[in-house]
Order: sequence, then structure tokens, then C-alpha cells
Amino acid sequence: MGETERTVPGRSLFFPGPVRWAVEPLDDSLEPGTVLTALPVSDAVRARGARLSRHRDRVAFAQARRLALALAHDELQHGRGPSWAGTLALVQSCPDCGGGDHGAPALVAPSPGADARRRIPLHVSWAHSTGHVAAAVSVLPCGVDVETAGGPTPEFVLTTEEIARWDARGRPAALFRWWFTVKEAAVKCGLLDIDAFGEVSAEELGRCPEVVLYSSEVPGTGPGNGASASVMVRNA
Ligand SMILES: [Zn+2]
Repeated sequence: MGETERTVPGRSLFFPGPVRWAVEPLDDSLEPGTVLTALPVSDAVRARGARLSRHRDRVAFAQARRLALALAHDELQHGRGPSWAGTLALVQSCPDCGGGDHGAPALVAPSPGADARRRIPLHVSWAHSTGHVAAAVSVLPCGVDVETAGGPTPEFVLTTEEIARWDARGRPAALFRWWFTVKEAAVKCGLLDIDAFGEVSAEELGRCPEVVLYSSEVPGTGPGNGASASVMVRNA
């Protein structure tokens, strides 16, 4: 389980090793349009956030990007990675259609006197569930996931052996969502194919020599709505 190095009100911060990551409860009082306007993201990303129909989805969209940028600023100023004191921007690009409002996130710095943008060598990942947002930054490829409740059917997520172990323990919701976050994090850092959830156990993924895995149970804001969160960093 991850260590909590310090706690900011309303936010759990975890950075025990090569990744800086955090989980926040979803803040329903947040005004997503105002948050996105204040963030260094592209107009295309702002427009996509505004198009989401549900208020909670717009909040999660804005809050996850705000958290990722806050962690990136922390990492660049206080971390062990590259030092960067200037402005930075969060961009996205889709490898399939070339769209600039979705797809893999990256941090860039505007080059002085040129339109060309310079890539900052930090990897960024974020996730949201019904009640939480999570984000991670690392000099290594990283993937973060947070799950509150629900999700796909266990048969899609778990191996046959995991289902048997889960059954034997009375099907605890927290165990299922923890295993699910491990597998989602593995997909996001490029270790696992999204169709292969049922083929590799979370335990095997965590033991893989090329990754470091941290997981944490996050207290909920009310009874029964705690979350599980995992981040995986890949050293390859
Ligand atoms: Zn696309």
C-alpha cells in the first residue's frame, strides 16, 4: 500500500517513489468552465469539456486536469525529475485520428520566440470514478486509476483463479475494485492489453520486474463510498 507523505485538506497525496500521485473527492461545487478557463489547456480541450452533458462529468473532466497540472508543477519544482520554472501547457493528441481534444496527455513548454512547443519529459495520467479523481506524474511512463463502486462485471476483469479467491472471501467490493485499478493502471502504462484483463492476475502484474505498483484505499466522504486507487510506473 502507498504511503501518505503529507495531507492537504480534501486531497490525499502519495509520492513514496518514482511517481507523484494524488486522489481527490469529486468537488460538486466546482464550476468546471471557470476551472478550465484558468488552466493552460487548449481551446479544443475546453470545448470538449463544455460539451459533456452531465455536470458531474464536466467537474471530473476539469478537476482531473487541474490535479494533474498541480502535481506537474510540484514535481518540476520539488521533484527529482527535470527542473522547470517556466510556464507549461497540457496538450492532448489522439494517435488514431489526430484530434487535439482527446488522447494521450503531454506537458509542453512554449519555446521562446517560436511557435514550436517543447515537450517536457514528464509522463501524465489521470482517472475519474463516480466520486473521485486521481492523477499521476512521473519521469517514467505511468498509469493511474481510481474506482469507487460498480464497474464492469467481475468475469470481464478477473481471472478464473481471482474469481475463486474473491468468492472464497465473500466477494468484498473493496478487493474487486482494488484488483480492477491495478489492471487499469497496467493498461494505461502500456503493460497490459485492454482485452487481457481476464488473463493475468493483479498480483502477477504487481510482481512484474519492470514495474513499480502503489495502491491505496481512499476514505469516502460518506458510508460505503470509499475508493481504491492504484498507480503503476514502468521502467522500460
Ligand atoms: Zn481520436
